[in-house]
Amino acid sequence: MVDSVFISELSSAEFKAKVAAGAPVFLPLGATEQHGPHLPLGVDVVLPTGVCERVAREVGGLVAPTIPYGYKSQPRSGGGEAFPGTISLDANTFSLVIRDVIRSLGHHGVRRFVLVIGHFENTWPSVEGLDLGLRELRRDGITDVTALRLEYWDFVDRSTLDRLFPDGFPGTELEHASLLETSLMLLLRPELVDMSKVPSDGPAKFPNYDVTPFPKGLVPASGVLADARGSSAEKGQWLMDDHVRKIAAAVKKELGL
Ligand code: ZN
Ligand code: MN
Repeated sequence: MVDSVFISELSSAEFKAKVAAGAPVFLPLGATEQHGPHLPLGVDVVLPTGVCERVAREVGGLVAPTIPYGYKSQPRSGGGEAFPGTISLDANTFSLVIRDVIRSLGHHGVRRFVLVIGHFENTWPSVEGLDLGLRELRRDGITDVTALRLEYWDFVDRSTLDRLFPDGFPGTELEHASLLETSLMLLLRPELVDMSKVPSDGPAKFPNYDVTPFPKGLVPASGVLADARGSSAEKGQWLMDDHVRKIAAAVKKELGL
Protein backbone atom coordinates (compact mmCIF):
# COMPACT_ATOMS: atom_id res chain seq x y z
CA MET A 1 0.00 0.00 0.00
CA VAL A 2 1.24 3.50 -0.82
CA ASP A 3 2.33 5.36 2.29
CA SER A 4 0.72 8.72 1.65
CA VAL A 5 -1.90 10.70 3.53
CA PHE A 6 -2.94 12.49 0.34
CA ILE A 7 -6.06 11.03 -1.25
CA SER A 8 -4.81 12.16 -4.66
CA GLU A 9 -1.75 9.88 -4.27
CA LEU A 10 -3.75 6.76 -3.36
CA SER A 11 -5.50 4.29 -5.60
CA SER A 12 -9.24 3.92 -5.30
CA ALA A 13 -8.76 0.59 -3.50
CA GLU A 14 -6.27 2.08 -1.04
CA PHE A 15 -8.64 4.97 -0.34
CA LYS A 16 -11.50 2.53 0.23
CA ALA A 17 -9.48 0.46 2.70
CA LYS A 18 -8.38 3.45 4.76
CA VAL A 19 -11.89 4.87 4.92
CA ALA A 20 -13.25 1.46 5.94
CA ALA A 21 -10.72 1.49 8.79
CA GLY A 22 -12.28 4.74 10.02
CA ALA A 23 -9.75 7.30 8.78
CA PRO A 24 -10.85 10.91 9.29
CA VAL A 25 -10.62 13.05 6.15
CA PHE A 26 -9.06 16.50 6.36
CA LEU A 27 -10.25 19.11 3.88
CA PRO A 28 -7.92 22.14 3.63
CA LEU A 29 -9.77 25.27 2.50
CA GLY A 30 -7.33 27.61 0.79
CA ALA A 31 -7.26 30.66 -1.43
CA THR A 32 -5.32 32.15 -4.32
CA GLU A 33 -4.50 35.62 -3.08
CA GLN A 34 -1.77 38.25 -3.12
CA HIS A 35 0.63 37.96 -0.19
CA GLY A 36 2.91 40.92 -0.75
CA PRO A 37 6.06 41.12 -2.91
CA HIS A 38 7.96 38.46 -0.97
CA LEU A 39 5.45 35.57 -0.98
CA PRO A 40 3.64 33.63 -3.73
CA LEU A 41 -0.09 33.69 -4.43
CA GLY A 42 -0.50 30.17 -3.07
CA VAL A 43 0.38 30.77 0.60
CA ASP A 44 -3.16 30.02 1.78
CA VAL A 45 -2.99 26.69 -0.09
CA VAL A 46 0.50 25.65 1.06
CA LEU A 47 0.00 26.34 4.77
CA PRO A 48 -3.27 24.53 5.59
CA THR A 49 -2.17 21.65 3.35
CA GLY A 50 1.09 21.37 5.28
CA VAL A 51 -0.69 21.47 8.63
CA CYS A 52 -3.25 18.87 7.52
CA GLU A 53 -0.52 16.58 6.19
CA ARG A 54 1.25 16.53 9.56
CA VAL A 55 -1.87 16.16 11.69
CA ALA A 56 -3.22 13.43 9.41
CA ARG A 57 0.03 11.46 9.87
CA GLU A 58 -0.32 11.83 13.62
CA VAL A 59 -3.92 10.60 13.79
CA GLY A 60 -4.06 8.14 10.87
CA GLY A 61 -6.08 10.44 8.66
CA LEU A 62 -6.30 11.30 4.98
CA VAL A 63 -6.03 14.70 3.29
CA ALA A 64 -8.48 15.52 0.50
CA PRO A 65 -7.29 17.80 -2.32
CA THR A 66 -7.06 21.37 -1.05
CA ILE A 67 -9.73 23.78 -2.32
CA PRO A 68 -7.45 26.28 -4.12
CA TYR A 69 -9.91 29.21 -4.30
CA GLY A 70 -11.47 30.98 -1.35
CA TYR A 71 -14.14 33.50 -0.53
CA LYS A 72 -13.35 37.07 -1.64
CA SER A 73 -10.33 38.80 -0.13
CA GLN A 74 -11.42 41.59 2.21
CA PRO A 75 -9.40 44.83 2.51
CA ARG A 76 -9.05 44.55 6.30
CA SER A 77 -7.86 40.93 6.30
CA GLY A 78 -6.33 40.19 2.88
CA GLY A 79 -5.86 43.52 1.12
CA GLY A 80 -8.95 43.16 -1.07
CA GLU A 81 -9.80 41.91 -4.52
CA ALA A 82 -7.92 44.52 -6.57
CA PHE A 83 -4.43 43.00 -6.30
CA PRO A 84 -3.46 41.15 -9.49
CA GLY A 85 -3.55 37.39 -9.10
CA THR A 86 -6.16 37.25 -6.36
CA ILE A 87 -8.75 34.79 -7.72
CA SER A 88 -11.86 34.31 -5.59
CA LEU A 89 -15.22 32.61 -5.44
CA ASP A 90 -18.60 34.00 -4.44
CA ALA A 91 -19.55 32.80 -0.95
CA ASN A 92 -22.38 30.78 -2.44
CA THR A 93 -20.07 29.04 -4.92
CA PHE A 94 -17.46 28.35 -2.25
CA SER A 95 -19.96 26.83 0.15
CA LEU A 96 -21.49 24.68 -2.60
CA VAL A 97 -18.04 23.29 -3.48
CA ILE A 98 -17.64 22.22 0.15
CA ARG A 99 -21.17 20.80 0.20
CA ASP A 100 -20.51 18.69 -2.88
CA VAL A 101 -17.13 17.38 -1.65
CA ILE A 102 -18.63 16.38 1.71
CA ARG A 103 -21.57 14.69 0.06
CA SER A 104 -19.27 12.78 -2.27
CA LEU A 105 -16.91 11.66 0.49
CA GLY A 106 -19.88 10.74 2.70
CA HIS A 107 -21.31 8.54 -0.03
CA HIS A 108 -17.92 6.78 -0.13
CA GLY A 109 -18.11 5.96 3.54
CA VAL A 110 -16.28 8.85 5.22
CA ARG A 111 -17.85 9.53 8.62
CA ARG A 112 -15.24 11.82 10.19
CA PHE A 113 -14.40 15.19 8.66
CA VAL A 114 -11.97 17.93 9.64
CA LEU A 115 -12.33 21.19 7.70
CA VAL A 116 -9.18 23.28 8.13
CA ILE A 117 -9.43 26.95 7.14
CA GLY A 118 -6.26 28.53 5.71
CA HIS A 119 -7.78 31.87 4.61
CA PHE A 120 -9.51 34.21 7.01
CA GLU A 121 -12.47 34.99 4.73
CA ASN A 122 -13.39 31.30 4.36
CA THR A 123 -14.66 31.02 7.90
CA TRP A 124 -18.41 31.66 7.61
CA PRO A 125 -18.88 30.32 4.06
CA SER A 126 -17.26 27.08 5.29
CA VAL A 127 -19.80 26.89 8.12
CA GLU A 128 -22.51 27.12 5.47
CA GLY A 129 -20.89 24.54 3.19
CA LEU A 130 -20.48 22.05 6.02
CA ASP A 131 -24.07 22.56 7.13
CA LEU A 132 -25.39 21.99 3.60
CA GLY A 133 -23.21 18.91 3.10
CA LEU A 134 -24.29 17.29 6.35
CA ARG A 135 -27.93 18.12 5.60
CA GLU A 136 -27.70 16.37 2.24
CA LEU A 137 -26.09 13.33 3.83
CA ARG A 138 -28.82 13.15 6.48
CA ARG A 139 -31.43 13.28 3.74
CA ASP A 140 -29.59 10.39 2.08
CA GLY A 141 -29.89 8.41 5.32
CA ILE A 142 -26.32 9.02 6.53
CA THR A 143 -26.75 10.28 10.08
CA ASP A 144 -23.57 9.15 11.87
CA VAL A 145 -21.15 11.84 10.66
CA THR A 146 -18.95 13.87 13.00
CA ALA A 147 -17.19 16.97 11.71
CA LEU A 148 -14.74 19.52 13.06
CA ARG A 149 -14.21 22.91 11.47
CA LEU A 150 -11.29 25.06 12.58
CA GLU A 151 -8.84 27.84 11.75
CA TYR A 152 -5.33 26.42 12.10
CA TRP A 153 -3.85 29.68 13.45
CA ASP A 154 -6.02 29.49 16.56
CA PHE A 155 -4.02 26.45 17.72
CA VAL A 156 -1.01 28.20 19.20
CA ASP A 157 0.20 28.57 22.76
CA ARG A 158 0.04 32.01 24.35
CA SER A 159 3.70 31.57 25.28
CA THR A 160 4.62 31.03 21.61
CA LEU A 161 2.85 34.26 20.59
CA ASP A 162 4.67 36.08 23.40
CA ARG A 163 8.01 34.77 22.08
CA LEU A 164 7.11 35.78 18.50
CA PHE A 165 5.69 39.20 19.39
CA PRO A 166 7.48 40.65 22.42
CA ASP A 167 5.76 44.00 21.68
CA GLY A 168 2.28 42.46 21.48
CA PHE A 169 0.41 40.31 18.94
CA PRO A 170 -1.23 42.51 16.25
CA GLY A 171 -4.08 40.00 15.76
CA THR A 172 -4.85 37.31 13.22
CA GLU A 173 -6.52 39.56 10.65
CA LEU A 174 -3.51 41.87 10.32
CA GLU A 175 -1.15 38.91 10.10
CA HIS A 176 -1.85 38.64 6.38
CA ALA A 177 1.50 38.04 4.59
CA SER A 178 3.25 39.00 7.82
CA LEU A 179 5.39 37.26 10.44
CA LEU A 180 3.29 34.11 10.93
CA GLU A 181 2.60 33.26 7.30
CA THR A 182 6.11 34.24 6.19
CA SER A 183 7.77 32.12 8.90
CA LEU A 184 5.63 29.09 8.06
CA MET A 185 6.45 29.53 4.36
CA LEU A 186 10.17 29.72 5.22
CA LEU A 187 9.70 26.39 6.98
CA LEU A 188 7.67 24.63 4.28
CA ARG A 189 8.65 26.24 0.94
CA PRO A 190 11.69 28.50 1.46
CA GLU A 191 12.43 28.51 -2.27
CA LEU A 192 9.18 30.47 -2.78
CA VAL A 193 10.08 33.25 -0.31
CA ASP A 194 12.24 36.28 -1.17
CA MET A 195 13.18 37.94 2.12
CA SER A 196 15.00 40.71 0.21
CA LYS A 197 11.56 41.94 -0.94
CA VAL A 198 9.92 42.17 2.49
CA PRO A 199 8.32 45.64 2.60
CA SER A 200 8.20 48.07 5.50
CA ASP A 201 5.05 50.09 4.70
CA GLY A 202 2.88 48.49 7.40
CA PRO A 203 1.31 47.97 9.75
CA ALA A 204 -2.09 48.95 8.37
CA LYS A 205 -4.33 51.13 10.51
CA PHE A 206 -7.93 50.24 9.76
CA PRO A 207 -11.22 51.47 11.23
CA ASN A 208 -13.23 48.76 12.98
CA TYR A 209 -15.85 48.78 10.20
CA ASP A 210 -16.07 48.23 6.44
CA VAL A 211 -16.60 51.03 3.95
CA THR A 212 -17.46 50.43 0.30
CA PRO A 213 -15.68 51.61 -1.72
CA PHE A 214 -12.82 51.12 0.72
CA PRO A 215 -10.92 54.40 1.31
CA LYS A 216 -7.82 54.68 -0.86
CA GLY A 217 -4.47 54.53 0.89
CA LEU A 218 -5.55 52.50 3.93
CA VAL A 219 -4.34 49.17 2.56
CA PRO A 220 -0.52 49.29 2.40
CA ALA A 221 0.57 49.37 -1.25
CA SER A 222 2.67 46.25 -0.65
CA GLY A 223 -0.38 44.20 0.36
CA VAL A 224 1.36 43.20 3.61
CA LEU A 225 -0.92 44.24 6.46
CA ALA A 226 1.41 44.01 9.48
CA ASP A 227 5.12 43.24 9.33
CA ALA A 228 7.10 40.29 7.95
CA ARG A 229 10.55 41.46 9.04
CA GLY A 230 12.17 39.06 11.45
CA SER A 231 10.44 36.01 9.96
CA SER A 232 12.41 32.76 10.09
CA ALA A 233 12.02 29.05 9.51
CA GLU A 234 12.79 28.51 13.19
CA LYS A 235 9.78 30.63 14.16
CA GLY A 236 7.76 28.71 11.58
CA GLN A 237 8.75 25.50 13.33
CA TRP A 238 7.54 26.84 16.71
CA LEU A 239 4.19 27.60 15.10
CA MET A 240 3.95 24.30 13.24
CA ASP A 241 4.76 22.31 16.39
CA ASP A 242 1.91 24.05 18.25
CA HIS A 243 -0.53 23.72 15.35
CA VAL A 244 0.08 20.00 14.88
CA ARG A 245 0.09 19.09 18.58
CA LYS A 246 -3.00 21.09 19.48
CA ILE A 247 -5.07 20.25 16.39
CA ALA A 248 -4.21 16.54 16.74
CA ALA A 249 -5.35 16.64 20.35
CA ALA A 250 -8.69 18.25 19.41
CA VAL A 251 -9.23 15.79 16.56
CA LYS A 252 -8.48 12.78 18.75
CA LYS A 253 -10.78 14.04 21.49
CA GLU A 254 -13.76 14.94 19.31
CA LEU A 255 -13.52 12.09 16.81
CA GLY A 256 -12.82 9.41 19.40
CA LEU A 257 -9.49 8.32 17.91
ZN1 ZN B 1 -2.70 34.13 3.87
MN1 MN C 1 -5.89 34.80 2.93
